[in-house]
Amino acid sequence: MTQNNPTPQKSHLSFEVFPPKKDEEFENVYQILREMSKLNPDFISCTYGAGGSRAGKTIEITSFIRSKLQIDAIAHITCVGFTREDLERNCTALEAAGVNRVLALRGDRPQTMTDEQFDNREFHYAADLVRHLKEHTTLDIAGACYPEKHFEAPSLEEDLRHLKEKVDAGVTSLISQMFFDNQYFYRFLDKARALGIDVPIHAGIMPITTAKQLGTTVSLSGSSVPKELADIIATYGDDKEDMRKAGIDYAVRQIRDLKEHGVDGIHLYSMNKVKTTAEICSMI
Ligand code: FAD
Repeated sequence: MTQNNPTPQKSHLSFEVFPPKKDEEFENVYQILREMSKLNPDFISCTYGAGGSRAGKTIEITSFIRSKLQIDAIAHITCVGFTREDLERNCTALEAAGVNRVLALRGDRPQTMTDEQFDNREFHYAADLVRHLKEHTTLDIAGACYPEKHFEAPSLEEDLRHLKEKVDAGVTSLISQMFFDNQYFYRFLDKARALGIDVPIHAGIMPITTAKQLGTTVSLSGSSVPKELADIIATYGDDKEDMRKAGIDYAVRQIRDLKEHGVDGIHLYSMNKVKTTAEICSMI
């Protein structure tokens, strides 16, 4: 029997958090996570500072999300800064902590790392890390993708070809880089699906609630800033509360449109801001 009016699939909702810089700030992050858990996300992912010695922090945070909050947790891991032995140790620790999902990334060269150290990393691309994880662990593996192409890729087409290799290596879902113009995401989705990339793709949304974010996080991401968002920052940037409200409004409009288009998931780059995250969730 054919279905005439299929119910549109619910878009998943997920958040990204980062581990605290100092050990004494852990309780603060745990409190943020307790508050976030009330928003019923499908999963929460936790970043890893490539090249640092803080992989243990990502494990602690994801273990808390999984065991204390009973929410699916994804630990980010990178090729950069991980030897084969580090990787084995960390995967064993993750599995022992009940965390069975990772986001396998290449990572970028930290300022403290020489070109030689960066070039000599054991796993070159994220796909190499994925192959290793598939062979040696039972972890579920997600990967990153870039609606406006990765900054090193000569073209979106070439980036997508490598993305297909990464998915074929064993990635079961993708989380996108932030973008501020949904048209880039829709164009990317069409091209990815046409290439046979058929895993769920979560749309990465970063609420811009301070003018400063543009100069830091956004410029590092390589994502383009549409005129409408630039105008919002020019108009409200000097007023903290007005800027926050306008930034939330922009993100909410982006998310509503994505949900209407039936995207697989919305992944909020929360920047550990629970109030902003809760406000957005209440409006979508
Ligand atoms: P890859 O998939 O390896 O791709 C990197 C580049 O290499 C691309 O240009 C690709 O086209 C190209 N490429 C791939 N395979 C080949 C090949 N065989 N031959 C030639 N070129 C190839 N960084 C962190 O340090 N910590 C984090 O926690 C973190 N979290 C992130 C979360 C998300 C959702 C995203 C989108 C990014 C995150 N990053 C993080 C940043 C990420 O590490 C960087 O963007 C990095 O530059 C690329 O990582 P990747 O896994 O996408 O790399």
